[in-house]
Amino acid sequence: MSKPKVAFFDFTSCEGCQLNKLNFENDLLDMLKLVDIVEFREAMDNRADEYDIAFIEGSISSPTCVERIHDIRRRTKILVALGQCAVSGGINAMKNDQPSEWVRETVYGEDKYLFPSLPAMPVSAVVKVDYEIRGCPMSPPEYLHVLKSLLLGRKPELKDYAVCVECKLKENECVLDKGMFCLGPVTRAGCEAICPSFGQYCTGCRGPVSDLNKDGAVNMLKAHGFSEAEAIKRMKMFNTNDLEKTISWGAK
Ligand code: SF4
Ligand code: SF4
Ligand code: SF4
Repeated sequence: MSKPKVAFFDFTSCEGCQLNKLNFENDLLDMLKLVDIVEFREAMDNRADEYDIAFIEGSISSPTCVERIHDIRRRTKILVALGQCAVSGGINAMKNDQPSEWVRETVYGEDKYLFPSLPAMPVSAVVKVDYEIRGCPMSPPEYLHVLKSLLLGRKPELKDYAVCVECKLKENECVLDKGMFCLGPVTRAGCEAICPSFGQYCTGCRGPVSDLNKDGAVNMLKAHGFSEAEAIKRMKMFNTNDLEKTISWGAK
């Protein structure tokens, strides 16, 4: 029986999510026994005409990206957005807050007309996305869970509650109590609260929970001496598009 054909594609990104996959060590070898990797630019030259699962890293930020992602969508049965750039536009979307001509001039100088640019968009803004693996970078255990579920024909279970839940389950000392800011109360779990587990604050890299309790989060941050304006500023690092579209914190 032939193995499922899996492909990886990168769009506007740092390619850190794809690199993270190559760090799976033992799991990577097991994965290779179960699937046929037919495209993966970071690791091989092969090309294929169609795929069972396409993992997409990076945001859509140029007319060429739009054409390419439509082409991949036509060729694949399942499309998975891999990492926060692909899921929400991620850190790339910080540019969406700035005048586009200024951004192009800053990046490309007088050659800016050679590089047409669009606002950094999530993949789902252009084509149907079947599943999303969040985080900057994506979490390897979550990636493996999604891949295993898809290979077994099951729907992956993706978490939609706050990082604080995972953090409390690990019995971490809350960094707010140490005077740090933290976006754990409004950010989607799935990373095992890795940053607070190492004494760092959550920067919200997995995007907001879908039923975000803005008032509760703001009150909690205020109780620890932080303002709503500070929360908006910090949220923008990874969540500019979500702030614009799903959270009433979009006021600039
Ligand atoms: S989500 Fe983060 S690690 Fe992944 S490609 Fe984007 S910037 Fe890089
Ligand atoms: S450290 Fe952050 S994630 Fe952990 S409980 Fe405190 S606010 Fe929540
Ligand atoms: S704790 Fe927050 S910043 Fe750290 S990986 Fe998890 S969601 Fe991202």
